[in-house]
Amino acid sequence: MPQDATLPAPDPSDVGAEEAVLAAAETAVEGAAQEVAMTPLDHPRRLLLVHAHPDDETIGTGATMAKYAAEHALVTLVTCTLGEEGEILVPTLGHLGSDQQDGLGQHRIGELAAACEALGVRDHRFLGGPGRWRDSGMMGTPQNDRPDVFWQADLDEATRALVAIVREVRPQVVVTYDENGGYGHPDHIQAHRVAVAAFDRAADPGYAPGTGEPWQASRLYYTAFPKSVLQAGIDHLKATGATNFFGVESAEDLPFGNPDDEVTTEIDARDHLDAKVAAMRAHATQIAVDGPFFALSDNVGQKAMGREYYVLARGDRHPDGARETDLFGGAA
Ligand SMILES: [Zn+2]
Repeated sequence: MPQDATLPAPDPSDVGAEEAVLAAAETAVEGAAQEVAMTPLDHPRRLLLVHAHPDDETIGTGATMAKYAAEHALVTLVTCTLGEEGEILVPTLGHLGSDQQDGLGQHRIGELAAACEALGVRDHRFLGGPGRWRDSGMMGTPQNDRPDVFWQADLDEATRALVAIVREVRPQVVVTYDENGGYGHPDHIQAHRVAVAAFDRAADPGYAPGTGEPWQASRLYYTAFPKSVLQAGIDHLKATGATNFFGVESAEDLPFGNPDDEVTTEIDARDHLDAKVAAMRAHATQIAVDGPFFALSDNVGQKAMGREYYVLARGDRHPDGARETDLFGGAA
C-alpha cells in the first residue's frame, strides 16, 4: 500500500500508543483512497478471471495471478459461488457443513479474501454479489436441482452481471474453463458458459444497455493441465512416496488434463510460487496441507506448481505457432 511520503511518521515520544495507532490507520486509509481513485484504465494491462468457487483461482491460476499483479497489471477475479458444498478438511469446522449449520460459504469469503491478499490481487468480486448463486455440488447430486444454485441460474441474468464487470474493467484478456469446466463440475461448466457469453456480448452495443460502453476483450483463454505435466507430478509423488496423486497411476486415468499439443500458452511464474502456496494455505478448509498440491510444492514439484497452462480459445496465436509465454500475447 503506498504511503504518503509527506506525512510525518508518528513520533512515539510525543504521542500516546493510541494516537500512534490512529495516525497509522489514517495513513492507511489515505493510501487506500489513492488506490480507489485509480480507474481500471490506469492499468495498461488488464486481466479478468472467472472462477466457480473460492480456491479454484489459486489451484488453477494462482501463480499467474500473483505474477501479473506483481507486474502491476490489473487482475480482476470474479467468483461465481461461495463454495457452500465443499468438503471441509478442518475437523473443528465440520459444523459449518451444508448438512449442518450451512455456514461454509460465509467462512470461505474470508478464506478467499486472505488468498487474494497473498496473491496481491485487490479487485475481487462475487458474480451478482456474495451469495447470489449457490454452489451446485458435484454433478449428479441432489443439490444440482436446488433453485438457488448456479447450475440453475438464469443465464441471461448471470451474463448481464458479468458483462457489466467486463465493461467496467475492460480487460484485454479473459480466463475461464473449457466447455467441460475442466473436470465436469456443474459450476465450472456454468462459469464457462457465462464467461464465453459475456466475452461476446460485452461488445454488442445492443446488449444490456445501461451497463456501460461496449468492450471487446481480445483474448479468451481456458485453463489447462498438460497430460505430460500431470504424469510428471504423478511420477514424482510416486518416487518420493509423499502422497498419492488422486489415487491414479497414469495421467490418462485422470478426468482432466489436455493433450500437450492443445496447450497454447505456458506461464512461468515460479518466482511467485510462494504467493500461490500462501494462498493455498488460506483455503484451509479445502486444501489439505498433506495432500497432493502441497506435496508438489517442494523443489522438484515446482515445475508442476509454478508453471500454469492455458489454451487460447479466442484471439490470434503467435504467427510462428510457438507456445506463448504471456497471456497478453507474447511468445518466447
Ligand atoms: Zn471449483
